[in-house]
Amino acid sequence: MNIYTLSNGDIQLPDYKYRMDKDFLTINWIINKYCNLRCSYCVGWNNASREGVVDRHHYKDIADAFLHLKQSTGKGLYIAFTGGEPSLVPNFIELINTLGKYGFFIGVQTNLCTKVIKEVAYYTDPEKLIQIEAAYHYETLDKNKKLQDMYFGNFSLLSEKEFTVVLKIVATPKELKNFEKRVEWLRRKLPENSIIFVQPYITGLAGTKDNPRSYPYIYTDEEKKILSKFMKVRKKELFDFIHGAGWFKGMRCGAGESYLVLDEKGNARRCASLPHPLGGNLMKRNIRLLPEPTACPVEYCACPPWALWFGANVWEYIGNKRDECLYCRYHKE
Ligand code: SF4
Ligand code: SF4
Repeated sequence: MNIYTLSNGDIQLPDYKYRMDKDFLTINWIINKYCNLRCSYCVGWNNASREGVVDRHHYKDIADAFLHLKQSTGKGLYIAFTGGEPSLVPNFIELINTLGKYGFFIGVQTNLCTKVIKEVAYYTDPEKLIQIEAAYHYETLDKNKKLQDMYFGNFSLLSEKEFTVVLKIVATPKELKNFEKRVEWLRRKLPENSIIFVQPYITGLAGTKDNPRSYPYIYTDEEKKILSKFMKVRKKELFDFIHGAGWFKGMRCGAGESYLVLDEKGNARRCASLPHPLGGNLMKRNIRLLPEPTACPVEYCACPPWALWFGANVWEYIGNKRDECLYCRYHKE
């Protein structure tokens, strides 16, 4: 597996390499919103349309548009597909393979419960599709043995074929009550030495201490201890976040300069919380990046890893020394 262990003990996934490289642009592409599952907490599938870039354009034209973006920005591209369920878009395999041939690196966030995932294992290249974050949606999969079997079957197949695939679960405060049992059960179902990526729950709300369900007070000290026991991937950065590292408004952030979100129509956003100040659309080939990290205009960033990775001054705020920060590309400034 193509993972990194930092000197602070954190495991980092393959995207780390590109996040830390100033010559790379990380793109989080919300490629679709439709999905074959129906998770109750999902904001995507219930208002999804099939009017996105992938539904209207040939995969080769889409790949050519990314090539233009690379040439116009002078940066290499790491493209992380998310959704909805990205593997359901038309010509998913062809799109990945063409992007790979153009020299781009790709990550996918998937529920792993579609037939296409098996084809991914056989017909795509783990040197190009470098990161698969396989979300285990327990609300839906716990009740459906067929989907569960598909999930673990596809996970094993991808591991055998030497893809870097990690099981990702969101640990809400409620879920932490039986977390140990949950993780033990998952470990028994997964191939030996598989990585379980425990993602803390990100509330959509920032608030004060008297509102314990707001950021950064969502977890009690007891809950943080449980989380700490099971988190291995990006542990320090995620703990910095849940301890309140980001103050956001006014913080110099590289989103828009070294990181972009694309929506399903190809419109560029600075990050998930903001439109891109310069606008632009992938297929219109008119996306321009900000020339440098620029002050964040919002009170609260709901995309924490990005805020921490691309926020330039976080460490002064929490009193850490900047050279202790191993996961922000600006730490040497
Ligand atoms: S698997 Fe993901 S995209 Fe699909 S319904 Fe569940 S949360 Fe939404
Ligand atoms: S701190 Fe968060 S909300 Fe602000 S610009 Fe950066 S990524 Fe966007």
